[in-house]
Amino acid sequence: MSDSDSVKVAVRVRPFNQREKAANSKCILSMNGSQTVITDPATGNTKMFGFDQSYWSHDGFKEDDNGIYQGTDSSYADQRRVFNDLGQGVLNNAWAGYNAALFAYGQTGAGKSYSMVGYGINRGIVPITCDELFTAISKNEDKERQYQVSFSMLEIYNEKVRDLLSKDSKNLTVRQSPKQGFYVENLKQTPVQNYKEIERLMDQGTKNRTTASTNMNATSSRSHMVITVRFKQVFINASGESTTKSSEINLVDLAGSERASSTGATGDRLKEGSAINQSLSTLGNVISALADNSSGKKKVMVPYRNSVLTKLLQNALGGNSKTIMIAALSPADINYEETLSTLRYADRAK
Ligand code: ADP
Repeated sequence: MSDSDSVKVAVRVRPFNQREKAANSKCILSMNGSQTVITDPATGNTKMFGFDQSYWSHDGFKEDDNGIYQGTDSSYADQRRVFNDLGQGVLNNAWAGYNAALFAYGQTGAGKSYSMVGYGINRGIVPITCDELFTAISKNEDKERQYQVSFSMLEIYNEKVRDLLSKDSKNLTVRQSPKQGFYVENLKQTPVQNYKEIERLMDQGTKNRTTASTNMNATSSRSHMVITVRFKQVFINASGESTTKSSEINLVDLAGSERASSTGATGDRLKEGSAINQSLSTLGNVISALADNSSGKKKVMVPYRNSVLTKLLQNALGGNSKTIMIAALSPADINYEETLSTLRYADRAK
């Protein structure tokens, strides 16, 4: 796929965690170029998948006796490479006045937050993208152009929307207008002047997400988090008239995909599971319909209305927008079923 394609799918495997190491887990994934192969630990059968990018997380595997398979150098990726491959295109698109949506999908603990937000000095694609946006703005400042950037951060839990940057934590209403399409009424949009301000807001929002989920006796893995950066360029001509170009960049850390398939849940957990299931499967259907439509294979209806998440992202999906999915994978045999189902989900989105 070329950079101009509207839907791009990447998979990324993380290193073994302590628990997997302690259990002497075997590595069931191998990558070569854009190819990913998974081995069924019970039968030894393999399945091969092709994505726009297949990312091996680190070269520690090379010394790791647990690894049956190893990533090749061409699939090794750190946070900067992931940004260069995926985030830079989102930014270029934003400068051209188009919208974008970037998702992280996968089971809890597979590396969604690492890829999106990152940990410590290993900043993920969201901070790097925001930082690079302001770096580019500072290089392009002149009398003829002004820039406005605003930031919002929300969470969708059980199909209800909550503002992560507002003290008032009540549920917000999703409305529809002919001009804007679907939008969240009263969602706080904070104007920002530099990357530091975004960093502060992200910290605040992340804290609110954790506190709220503790109060609800849930974890953040059960909600979707949506960060939206609105970027507006104002061009002023010699006679003082102005025109604008606007773009919306959406960065989405999805609920853990294991909830979608978990069985035996009752009551609140059942409701929660089916809400997650509904939005993840709707998202999959929307992305796959968009991919079909853009390939010219066939024209299909895009089912945006079937979940709150896809309603809110309608303007950032389809048309000239860029859609990117990073599917996060555990390398360990004990997660075989979840990893295979993540690969299948990512495969459908292509
Ligand atoms: P999720 O958001 O899917 O629940 P996390 O992003 O929190 O998962 O990842 C779980 C753990 O694995 C974290 O400690 C994280 O630092 C680590 N991790 C995830 N992906 C990578 C990676 N690509 N390279 C190194 N460590 C990673």
